[in-house]
Amino acid sequence: MKKKFSNPCIRCGRERVFVRSWEEKIGESIIVNTQTTCPNPECQKEVDKDNKKQRDRMTAMRNKSLERAEERKIARTAQRLTQKNKKKK
Ligand SMILES: [Zn+2]
Repeated sequence: MKKKFSNPCIRCGRERVFVRSWEEKIGESIIVNTQTTCPNPECQKEVDKDNKKQRDRMTAMRNKSLERAEERKIARTAQRLTQKNKKKK
């Protein structure tokens, strides 16, 4: 049984064309990725640009939060060390 799914383009609303699908193993589960493209190449270019912008933003955000987490970890470790030293004396 094949399910027909609708996947309109976010820019022009036209039905996107299937390009390829592949399986990806993430941990214990296998997810199926599907790549589609807009029937209008010019529109797809814009979509790609938007996607890239969004990805860059996400990466920047992730890096920032990782940095913050790292800083917190260092601060906690430092605090623990000073507390230990105090107890020894
Ligand atoms: Zn489009």
